Amino acid sequence: MKPSSKRVIADLEELAALTTDERGAQRVAWGPVWRKTRDWFTAKLRTELGLEPHRDGAGNLWATLPGASPRGLVIGSHLDSVPGGGWLDGCLGVLAGLEVLRRARAAGTPPLTLHLVDWADEEGARFGRSLAGSAASAGTLDAHAELAHLVDRAGVKLPDALAENGVTLDGMGTARAYFDALGAIAYLELHIEQGPVLESMRKPTGLVLGTMGVERHNLRFVGQAAHSGAAPIHLRKDAFLAAAEFALACRDISVKYSGKTPRTRVVATCGVVKVEPNFVTAVPGSTEISIDLRALDATVLKKMLADARRAAAKAARTHKVAVSWSPLLHITPRPFDPALMTIARTAIKEVTGTAPELPSGPLHDAAEMAAVVPTAMIFAQSSPGISHTKLEDTPRPALDKSIRAFLIAVDRTVAQLAGSSTVSASGARSRTPARRPR
Ligand SMILES: [Zn+2]
Repeated sequence: MKPSSKRVIADLEELAALTTDERGAQRVAWGPVWRKTRDWFTAKLRTELGLEPHRDGAGNLWATLPGASPRGLVIGSHLDSVPGGGWLDGCLGVLAGLEVLRRARAAGTPPLTLHLVDWADEEGARFGRSLAGSAASAGTLDAHAELAHLVDRAGVKLPDALAENGVTLDGMGTARAYFDALGAIAYLELHIEQGPVLESMRKPTGLVLGTMGVERHNLRFVGQAAHSGAAPIHLRKDAFLAAAEFALACRDISVKYSGKTPRTRVVATCGVVKVEPNFVTAVPGSTEISIDLRALDATVLKKMLADARRAAAKAARTHKVAVSWSPLLHITPRPFDPALMTIARTAIKEVTGTAPELPSGPLHDAAEMAAVVPTAMIFAQSSPGISHTKLEDTPRPALDKSIRAFLIAVDRTVAQLAGSSTVSASGARSRTPARRPR
């Protein structure tokens, strides 16, 4: 069957109409609209495929189409959204996965067992811990230590919100064993880019190289608060000026380490600045500033951090203030699987002529999967290049091409992993006796 985006786009529109209000999508994990979304999705699996989905201990929703081999290809993303989110973030990948199952079922028995997963609470929008479901499956989540104390804005504790959905912290600890029992040999995900890179390149779809590593720290510069009229410039210990010099130095660091291609681009962001005492006639006595450094290359990320430490020390010396660091987050880069990327690259080229390559700055469920199983990911262009807002969109022609490229990539992955055909990096396909016509 020729891959088509028609049913996927129709499903996306249907879901948007069902779960969006004037502020945007409202499918926040563990809440009523999210449950309604999953009921809708479950009904589709039942009526169109006769499949009964099952839930693991972390609340991830799985649908399995048994194949000739028990070895499994996992396709997934997330149906949850941020409050006031867009119509594609997460849903695109899950509903493209539904189309994968439809096509496979129509063609007979797939050579591999196909698992479609809707990861629970990818966004972490309500309690602040993103990727909870996929991290539980990857075995990288310590549910009791990381989740037990979390509370939402209304004062609801996360364990209570989980209980409303039949999920417990102990149960989350069983998700890895559930995943291991699937016998997964690959993971594929289609997702909207959520940034402006593909749009700026005028490309409808692209290959994701991996997710960037993150070094996130909070710095505190401490000098001496003083009267703005009484303190001569040369006698001041201005903590804000030190932080400001540090911020500019971080900008220079990101320029210094950025190459010309998306693959080698790095970013540095100072997103939070808190000045004290924070009034117009006071020389700032202390200033807190955050730094968020991201790069796909672990060595580059390390060098960026070392440079940032030197820049902070220099700025502190210049302004006669002290500086201290406290780490907030450290994530290693998660490069995707070269063999699966070759297949995906070929599929994208087949549909669009070129396959631009870019890293993902945001994390995705695929980043958790990359730690436990060969993983690849395809991005659909964002236009405008923003997400987590109702303005999020992908133009229909780009959406169509992204979905078709993904469906082809899945077909080829199944064929290659099942050994029924091989795909060379140049895109030439040689067929050995096929299990079934495709
Ligand atoms: Zn997402």
